[in-house]
Amino acid sequence: MDITRQVEQLLKQGRVDIFLGYKELYGHLIPHGYTLDNLEELENLKVSQHRYSLEKVATHLVEKKPDLKIGIIARDCNQRALNILYTWNQLNPENIETLGVNCCPSKTRKHGDCSYLEPKKTGEFKKENGIDFNAEPEAFMAEFDNPERFSHWMYEFNKCIKCYGCRNVCPVCFCPECSLENPDLVEPGSLPPEVPIFHLIRATHMAGRCVDCGLCEDACPAEIPLRFLYRQMNQIVGDVFGYAPGEGIEKSPFTIIGDKVTLEPKPMDV
Ligand code: SF4
Ligand code: SF4
Ligand code: SF4
Repeated sequence: MDITRQVEQLLKQGRVDIFLGYKELYGHLIPHGYTLDNLEELENLKVSQHRYSLEKVATHLVEKKPDLKIGIIARDCNQRALNILYTWNQLNPENIETLGVNCCPSKTRKHGDCSYLEPKKTGEFKKENGIDFNAEPEAFMAEFDNPERFSHWMYEFNKCIKCYGCRNVCPVCFCPECSLENPDLVEPGSLPPEVPIFHLIRATHMAGRCVDCGLCEDACPAEIPLRFLYRQMNQIVGDVFGYAPGEGIEKSPFTIIGDKVTLEPKPMDV
């Protein structure tokens, strides 16, 4: 059964109140909610190669209607993000139905594609500022000694225009009060935002959370290799805690004891 008919069935059977997919508007795909009230619009449902954090839209809907049953088109990265949102109690898995579709490449395709897929070597990116963006992350990092890596990241961070696009598109950035807007941490009205604090705040918050969807990097108008930064962060999380964000809903690096959340490192080999 094609995906349009599957969505129709989900809506008619009352298994979902709304289905989040895409529709075309002026030649571009935009996120769209399909319901029983606009069933005729279903013929416009698109899947294509488009990616968006539909699960983030779902969290906003649930803020208004906690019991809403939501269907979502889900690629692997959407599913990983959903798993994080279930783990952090932002969405109830019992109220979410997913229709899986194939993976697609990131728009910018820097640093290879999704780290969860086989690495691809396209050879289509030239070196920029002496950095070979085709290199695997390890090779990329190994190419530079520490002072050069530091100065490269300072250069990247100084391009930031503090548009918050990275945070706003990120499916796992859901805090009602964001540290990036806390005047004690990030001075209001200064551009670029204080280097490197602004970016290090976000990077540390993505440790154990970022699902490597790449949407932040796709959205960044300054083309800062954010995904690569967070991937490095999560490599450490993986090494220390044996945890890959979004792998499943039962796994979390956190242990809750009483009202305290603690981190449990994985047992070390001796
Ligand atoms: S890749 Fe970027 S947008 Fe995607 S989960 Fe990680 S930080 Fe968020
Ligand atoms: S940047 Fe940090 S504080 Fe802001 S929404 Fe993301 S995780 Fe929350
Ligand atoms: S999307 Fe890019 S330019 Fe905008 S705040 Fe994030 S890092 Fe800075």
